[in-house]
Amino acid sequence: MNVRRRPISGIAVAAVTALGLGTLSACSSDSAEASGDGGGKLDVVASFYPMQYLAEQIGGDHVSVTSLTEPGQEPHDLELSTKQTAELGEADAVLYLKSLQPAVDEAVDQSEVKTKIDAASLTELEDHGDVEHDHGDEGGEAHSEESGEESGLDPHIWLDPVKYAEVAEGVAKALEKADPDHAADYEKNAEALAVKLDGLDTAFENGLKDTDTKVFFTNHAAFGYLAERYGLTQEAITGLDPDSEPSPARIKELQEEAKADGVTTVFYETLVSDKTAKTLAKDAGLKTDVLDPLEGITEQSKGEDYIEVMQSNLEALKTALGAK
Ligand code: ZN
Repeated sequence: MNVRRRPISGIAVAAVTALGLGTLSACSSDSAEASGDGGGKLDVVASFYPMQYLAEQIGGDHVSVTSLTEPGQEPHDLELSTKQTAELGEADAVLYLKSLQPAVDEAVDQSEVKTKIDAASLTELEDHGDVEHDHGDEGGEAHSEESGEESGLDPHIWLDPVKYAEVAEGVAKALEKADPDHAADYEKNAEALAVKLDGLDTAFENGLKDTDTKVFFTNHAAFGYLAERYGLTQEAITGLDPDSEPSPARIKELQEEAKADGVTTVFYETLVSDKTAKTLAKDAGLKTDVLDPLEGITEQSKGEDYIEVMQSNLEALKTALGAK
């Protein structure tokens, strides 16, 4: 029934759009029983994986979710195709995180989608500015299209299970409003997700309570909220944007800090080249490991979904920090 909406592959989507109402009404009259309300599922477009996961977990059987960012695609610098922009315009709801992907922000602003859910408005964003000092140029460039004002705010809220849970709650409310017929189910699904996120928070809290060091090195500054939540210090090789290159001065600074703070490991991530991390690690005699910012799930991900990859992240942090 819902096969038509599944893949984001442009041609298929365009064909469906062109065929338009004929196909849709034929389909829904055949299968009105199955969907219950005769209107089919709520079409939700999510901007990238952490938003997709929320929509799927909370929406359950009542939503059909597509993601604008393909698995394996680095989300920060996403460009939207004309077809994706058109598809976004046709959606019942869009779930995105303002200030992470300027192209998405713009497309959402210009679309007339009835339910626009901005995850950034559902929790509080903070400025973790100091991680960016060496990379002000790159950061400014990445965000300048939309608004220079907000460029200091760290968008990586999903890596803190507590903030992510706040967003989840807001998403549930928005879906309930958009599709009141299934409000009870959205609420129930959101509660189940809240339990999982709460368990994750407890595991991080306990697992990272007593460690040899509190400092960890990452590729880009994705883990600011996580670090703050669990009393750790993140040192990012690059800034908030994973594609920027660190200066030789920054590398030297990090190597000195590794010595001073007993850092054992340089973390890299699955969607970005690990070259810089490996160079830094080698010169300073450190190990490398994956700490996944969960900006997408691929075959290389250490887990099938958000919860599993976060559990892998916890294990990696425990090892690197010397958890007792
Ligand atoms: Zn990021």
